[in-house]
Amino acid sequence: MIRFDHVTKRYPDGTVAVDGLTLEAPTGRITVFVGPSGCGKTTSLRMVNRMIEPTSGTITIDDRDVTSLPPHELRRTIGYVIQHAGLFPHRTVIDNVATVPFLLGTDKKQARARAAELLERVGLPAHFARRYPAQLSGGQQQRVGVARALAADPPVMLMDEPFSAVDPVVREQLQDQFLQLQEELGKTIVFVTHDIDEAIKLGDQIAVMAVGGHLAQLSSPADLLAR
Ligand code: ADP
Ligand code: ADP
Repeated sequence: MIRFDHVTKRYPDGTVAVDGLTLEAPTGRITVFVGPSGCGKTTSLRMVNRMIEPTSGTITIDDRDVTSLPPHELRRTIGYVIQHAGLFPHRTVIDNVATVPFLLGTDKKQARARAAELLERVGLPAHFARRYPAQLSGGQQQRVGVARALAADPPVMLMDEPFSAVDPVVREQLQDQFLQLQEELGKTIVFVTHDIDEAIKLGDQIAVMAVGGHLAQLSSPADLLAR
């Protein structure tokens, strides 16, 4: 479980991006942060993997303060997927996915075999493995991004608008496949989107954020649908 305890982030220019956030993201579930642009969703997410440090408050993963986790452990624990996959442009698809386990000490051959398996799991046929990211569509790049994040087998996944930059048809496919994969893998996921329909479709729990970085409400998808 990830726990935000009275977490506030004030940027150096005085902007309060997140204001007193207290929330639990249960193990094995998808918690979605939804809300308009600028309400602190990305800031909240990035405080979990310490890309951003809170001004006050604490974040724990399974009761361990994230600030007490050494960087290599943080990296093993948390996968991170962003809107534009952020792939390494000069590495092939297979190497984009194999690099992380390789850096974590898996031997190269094994890392590649695992990468191939993951690419298949996210729906990317084998003949794409030797392409470079620029030779893929946006949706295919996002698949590689998801496979790369899964390669270290992290129990926690942070996903920031991972499906927002692709067209609606592909987005729906990505969402469906993601739900199937999650059914099987049961990761603890924090997912950021500005799209309420996506939040309702994917979330086990939905944190509705409001401008000013407040948590406006914490709902089940059924509650939100009923409104
Ligand atoms: P969201 O992901 O919901 O769009 P963000 O977390 O990106 O929101 O931003 C929350 C608020 O913090 C916004 O007002 C944004 O302009 C501001 N902000 C984000 N990053 C910085 C920064 N590095 N310095 C100052 N303000 C920032
Ligand atoms: P390289 O050493 O090959 O340049 P990096 O060390 O920058 O690569 O990143 C390796 C992988 O770790 C990438 O998939 C990247 O997205 C991921 N990563 C980098 N920083 C973080 C972080 N703070 N939290 C989670 N994942 C991260």
